[in-house]
Amino acid sequence: MLIVQKYGGTSVGDLERISSVASRVIKTKEEGHDVVVVVSAMSGETNKLISYAEHFSKNPNKRELDLLLSSGERVTSALLSIALNELGYNSIALSGRQAGIYTNDTHTSARIEKIDSSKIKNHLNQGKIVVVAGFQGFTKDENVSTLGRGGSDLSAVAIAGALKADLCEIYTDVDGIYTTDPRIEKSAKKIDKISYDEMLEFASLGAKVLQNRSVEMAKKLNVNLVTRNSFNENEGTLITKESEIVEEPIVSGVALDKNQARITLRGVVDKPGIAAEIFSKLATNNINVDMIIQNVGQDGTTNLGFTVPENELEKTKEIMSKLNASSDLEFDRAVAKVSIVGVGMKSHSGVAATAFNTLADENINIEMISTSEIKISMIVDEKYGELAVRALHSAYKLGE
Ligand code: ADP
Ligand code: ASP
Ligand code: MG
Repeated sequence: MLIVQKYGGTSVGDLERISSVASRVIKTKEEGHDVVVVVSAMSGETNKLISYAEHFSKNPNKRELDLLLSSGERVTSALLSIALNELGYNSIALSGRQAGIYTNDTHTSARIEKIDSSKIKNHLNQGKIVVVAGFQGFTKDENVSTLGRGGSDLSAVAIAGALKADLCEIYTDVDGIYTTDPRIEKSAKKIDKISYDEMLEFASLGAKVLQNRSVEMAKKLNVNLVTRNSFNENEGTLITKESEIVEEPIVSGVALDKNQARITLRGVVDKPGIAAEIFSKLATNNINVDMIIQNVGQDGTTNLGFTVPENELEKTKEIMSKLNASSDLEFDRAVAKVSIVGVGMKSHSGVAATAFNTLADENINIEMISTSEIKISMIVDEKYGELAVRALHSAYKLGE
């Protein structure tokens, strides 16, 4: 078999951890498989590099930022390869560019456009263990690019897809995908199998255990994806097609996203075209607007509220102040989005009512709501985010 293994930040967090990753890789090789390893930077390293850049500039040049950030993954890929060679296994470390990963030029969140799989294949054919620096690629102008935070997951899935690997294993610091973040709720249960669609919702709604674009790519390319713990031998979670899953629970899990900010505009003139103007302006500036609510108008004016990722708030403020849509603008960083996800919701009623009652019983005010066929999201005060997660987890009996 051809197996792609990705090791996240804590899994390569220090030199000792890199040694144990080397042993695990060797074990897989000894079982007779071809192995491509994708590594993250040591945990905390990417944040440290960002803070270095911010020491000099509030708004660092993104091209240079990418060159800087990509270095974290290069360090771990080279170290792992050196360790493997020392243990008697022929191995080569590759940067994103050397691995043939071409991206567009949206620095700091580039999209993979093409992978020249012959680069990795040539080394595999020579019996080598190939270690690729995750999170990075290069543009047609030969600049180094990075794939957005958590992007090593995407590197691994894209490489597995391009090489038609039999399996893509994502090694992290928990046993797999849980009904909610096990760091928030101790009774969270590991899920054995989850569909691509549910996992995509989960990841997009804040379960950072897998980067959402990696799940999207896995679905598109039909990659056999498993998340596992690099600290033990436990079986992980398989992410697969919905048809492979026999029994779908109504609610599969609860996610929390604290990286949300809310914008409120009061006294907006209530006439056609205002919302169009605001939201097209935000869209052309690549701002991801999530939830939107508009009140019923009174006296020819109305109130409009929406959420954006917290790290896009500064840019949003700038755009909104130029738009002059309302003189009364309010910004709030202290909000969180709590969501429940489940494919089974499609065919069951009363799921939303349970969520609203649960939060009401905890005296948590729901400030915004949005729903789709398989999820319900609610904006709450950030300080009640974790409480809301625990209450919902228990209301849907997910720990049982
Ligand atoms: P890595 O560095 O290996 O990429 P991450 O920190 O990106 O690891 O992701 C793993 C973390 O995701 C876990 O430590 C856990 O706290 C968090 N997490 C959030 N939601 C979930 C969930 N539903 N299931 C498992 N882990 C989750
Ligand atoms: N090191 C990068 C980050 O922290 C990429 C990754 O770990 O997946 O975002
Ligand atoms: Mg991650």
